Amino acid sequence: MSPSDTLSPQVGVFGGTFDPPHWGHINLALSLMEAHQLQEVWFLPTSTNPHKKDRLHTSADHRLHMTELAVENVPNFFVRDVECQRGGISYTVDTLQELVDQEQQRPQPRQLRLLLGADAAHSLGQWRNPLKILQLAPPLIGHRPGTPIADIEKLPNELKSAILAGSTAIPIMDVSATRVRERLKNGLYCGHLVPAKILDYIEVHRLY
Ligand code: ATP
Repeated sequence: MSPSDTLSPQVGVFGGTFDPPHWGHINLALSLMEAHQLQEVWFLPTSTNPHKKDRLHTSADHRLHMTELAVENVPNFFVRDVECQRGGISYTVDTLQELVDQEQQRPQPRQLRLLLGADAAHSLGQWRNPLKILQLAPPLIGHRPGTPIADIEKLPNELKSAILAGSTAIPIMDVSATRVRERLKNGLYCGHLVPAKILDYIEVHRLY
């Protein structure tokens, strides 16, 4: 258990473009949930990711629907569409502040934790106001056992320490949305990478 794990209940906040969502996302969130006894996980599809604004392949609406399909049968997984509702470019720090403010209205506010894949951890330094992000939702980062999180040496100490404190070895699945899109484009089978109901949705709406 990391030092920032507390006795108060915790909720994982998992942002992504989910373009489309795949088993790697579900596996990461579920593994971190079990490893840290998170009470819930909230999937947050970004409306326009500031780091990927020229590289989105489908509308926020489609990505939101696909993310809802991805989590609908997983206990304690929910979609929060704060970013899609807000529209425009979303900065994680603003979204987390909004979620923390909402949580403070509850009789027993829960501690938010930002869920990240190992490939996203080093980019935290380029996000808007990373130190504030650490305060609002200390990160939990899933990485492959035996493979430490890469490229974090040059990050400020506070950020590096928070990443190391939240780093969690989990069985990572070798899948990315990029690979899924490429396989779909080439007419290749994707049932081992993406839940069938999402593949049906992609077919019906002719995405990718
Ligand atoms: P793309 O290939 O389009 O860049 P992606 O598959 O990386 O997409 P995103 O929606 O950009 O998916 O990722 C959201 C989060 O999910 C990030 O924190 C990323 O590190 C994590 N993630 C993506 N794929 C995996 C995977 N296979 N295992 C663990 N985490 C993952």
